[in-house]
Amino acid sequence: MGAHDDVRTAPRALATEAVHAGRDDLARQGLHAPPIDLSTTYPSYDSRGEAARIDAFAATGAEPDGPPVYGRLGNPTVARFETALARLEGTEAAVAFASGMAALSAVLLVRGSMGLRHAVAVRPLYGCSDHLLTAGLLGSEVTWTDPAGVADALRPDTGLVMVESPANPTLAEVDLRAVAHACGSVPLLVDNTFATPVLQRPAEQGARLVLHSATKYLGGHGDVLAGVVACDEEFAGRLRQVRFATGGVLHPLAGYLLLRGLSTLPVRVRAASATAAELARRLAADPRVARVHYPRIGGAMVSFEVHGDPHEVIAGVRLITPAVSLGSVDTLIQHPASISHRIVDAEDRRGAGVGDRLLRLSVGLEDVEDLWLDLAQALRSEKGAGLY
Ligand SMILES: *Cc1c(COP(=O)(O)O)cnc(C)c1O
Repeated sequence: MGAHDDVRTAPRALATEAVHAGRDDLARQGLHAPPIDLSTTYPSYDSRGEAARIDAFAATGAEPDGPPVYGRLGNPTVARFETALARLEGTEAAVAFASGMAALSAVLLVRGSMGLRHAVAVRPLYGCSDHLLTAGLLGSEVTWTDPAGVADALRPDTGLVMVESPANPTLAEVDLRAVAHACGSVPLLVDNTFATPVLQRPAEQGARLVLHSATKYLGGHGDVLAGVVACDEEFAGRLRQVRFATGGVLHPLAGYLLLRGLSTLPVRVRAASATAAELARRLAADPRVARVHYPRIGGAMVSFEVHGDPHEVIAGVRLITPAVSLGSVDTLIQHPASISHRIVDAEDRRGAGVGDRLLRLSVGLEDVEDLWLDLAQALRSEKGAGLY
């Protein structure tokens, strides 16, 4: 028998992990769907044991052994999602938060508490991530640079290098391996929200921290707000300690929905990506469209610049939902300069390639012909589009 002939120990493909990870114990418990544990507290007649578990948590941030103590310290339903996401990203651990921004905040707090308040970051980032760093709301300071400038921007107090690839909303790609190399011993955080582990696993390319707005593809249905950081166990311990102390925990119902979302993630991402690639081709051939952005690694996001008025395109869609956010089963369109990146200073925004005529499309699972029909008629409603 070969080393990988045992089904229990053989490495599993992503599609298999997506439906099995975080559920390993269910069959033995006689369960099929994972249970939802809504407890905020847990009865225990052994307060000496609870004291020992809290001491152990305070020392390392490792998930407490034995029965849970209190909902802010950890929740079994949320832990299933964390286990599954770590498996998909190929990391030792993952720590879930109430939103993507709560997850990024926890990372900054971990580094800041170690006296490492300086961050190096590459634009564009999601608008609120840019804002959090630029405004220094958590006492951090940021140096913006391009990928080639990362090594030179590092300082003795640099605690973090942050990139998004493909980036929101321009879909610009960063050579993660090269940036990870430039970081030296400083942790590289990659926001992998757009690619998902289906298309890219940044930890394999040297990222120490992989961030998701789980609100997007991981949840996948536009009905759960969440964030998660996939990383090594040491960093995860610090993140759990910050989460415990600051309280940005994920609700167990959200944990359940995210675990369910992961089970269809590979199928959803591949199907929506095929449609997105076709829409990108058609947009690129359309005279009303000035430029199309579609990443080399693929994905379900397409950005494009129009010759006419982008607000009229938003006002003109009938099947596509005009809404911020992304990664849902239905197709969404938004105008980054008005919504997702509005909070970024206009000059910085334009400097990052987020022009005033750029539209961002999150392609869902509808039929490609229906989507194209809607896009084509919305483009016709642009002022000046009558020229064509
Ligand atoms: C939405 C988003 C975030 C923020 O996540 P929330 O869940 O809304 O807090 C961070 N990064 C990217 C790339 C996003 O698209």
